[in-house]
Amino acid sequence: MLIGLQVTGGYDGGIHEIIRLFFPRCRVTYEPVDTDLKVDIRVKEGPGYLELTGELRGMLEKTEQSRLFSAEPGEVKREVRSFTYRLLMEATSMNPSPYGILTGVRPTKLVHRYLDNGYFEGEIQRELRDKYLVEPEKAGLLTEVAVRNRPFLLGPEQVKRCLGVYVGIPYCPTRCHYCSFPAYPLEHRPGLAEFFSALLQELSRIGRVLNELDLAVDNLYVGGGTPTVLGAFEWEQLLDVLNRYYLGTETEFTVEAGRPDTLNGEVLRLLVAGGVNRMCVNPQTMNDETLNLIGRRHTAQMVRSGYELVRSAGIKQVNMDLIVGLPGEGPAELEKSLQEVMRLKPEGITIHHLAWKRGSVWQMQEAALEQNGADIGDDARSIMSSAGYLPYYLYRQKYMAGNQENIGYALPGCFSRYNIRVIEERQTIIGLGGGAASKYVDPHTWKLTTLHYPKDPAAYIKRVEELINAQVDKLRALS
Ligand code: SF4
Repeated sequence: MLIGLQVTGGYDGGIHEIIRLFFPRCRVTYEPVDTDLKVDIRVKEGPGYLELTGELRGMLEKTEQSRLFSAEPGEVKREVRSFTYRLLMEATSMNPSPYGILTGVRPTKLVHRYLDNGYFEGEIQRELRDKYLVEPEKAGLLTEVAVRNRPFLLGPEQVKRCLGVYVGIPYCPTRCHYCSFPAYPLEHRPGLAEFFSALLQELSRIGRVLNELDLAVDNLYVGGGTPTVLGAFEWEQLLDVLNRYYLGTETEFTVEAGRPDTLNGEVLRLLVAGGVNRMCVNPQTMNDETLNLIGRRHTAQMVRSGYELVRSAGIKQVNMDLIVGLPGEGPAELEKSLQEVMRLKPEGITIHHLAWKRGSVWQMQEAALEQNGADIGDDARSIMSSAGYLPYYLYRQKYMAGNQENIGYALPGCFSRYNIRVIEERQTIIGLGGGAASKYVDPHTWKLTTLHYPKDPAAYIKRVEELINAQVDKLRALS
């Protein structure tokens, strides 16, 4: 389906995103060509008023006009988006997203801005409903999550001295079909030894600069890929450099063991001795048939044994991920997975909704996935809440099942600093290694500058010197 879009007044701030909520598979063009539907939004501003006119022509026919007596300059874009959303809602008789015109990845950042400005929870929920067309239940959820994680946000002075660090190991045993992370299947991509040596070089150089600048690391996350594909010899070297330069007595140190088939007792003992206090063991589902279908080479039983291994090694906190909306799975399968995972008693459980991700096998195959996750996540929320798990961070992705969200739950006292800060973006988190992204936060405006590393290990190895120099320049500019 082809949709022609015209917006006057220079306000095309993401209206195509609003259109795609209603017509997820459409293409939007700005060219004057034959289309199935034309969307024409005209914006006229005058002293003290804003006039919006919207016309739909083609497979839908509708004209609407709205005149507001004042709209602050920063609010015009939002008014245009909500006007377009309402126009399409009336013309199609559907409301596709419980998050209304909030199409961004981190909707709780908006709630934090309201809290910064002294708004109370009830007022924020009203603003979300009236101005952003968020459904009341989601407005409540967003506010609940932001208020809960607010004590973990840093103030401007702390932001100058205290960082998070992410280390990317871009290898996995096989590639899951929904994955768009940097995850090269080990068997097809040798080069791990060269990658690892470049990584150690980078970690040592950056670590020395952190120490020289007296910058503390209060959360460290080794992710990927699946870092537990590394053997004991590699972990000894990695832990050595991390302990020398990065770890403090209070650092939250997480290692992702996304695939339970990569866990072994020897490495786990090294991790505990090396200061790791949190691990992620991610089943995604406890249904063997689905595990096979999504390209993972392990069973639910291997998840249970992997989890026991992690616990018996002495890891204090474990998080487990599940995905809502996997092919062939509905409420019954999700509830079964959830109950099985809760029986293991991890401190945290993250419930993702399946998203069509660019670069994933499914997206490339254009597999006709049924987006069936709409209401199931709500069931999960009430099951989790009755077991004492609280939602403490939340993010969204494009093309998610049912336009829902991913929610991190944890038992009280077990909220991950890294997870909160990577979502709320109020701490500089530097990303080192394959496919890593750094986000430098301005402590006064909360604006971000980024530095992205190549996903391909070969490109990372080739450019490592240049990447280190760029990272050092940014770190020095902090002080
Ligand atoms: S384990 Fe995670 S990073 Fe690895 S292929 Fe699967 S989804 Fe991607």
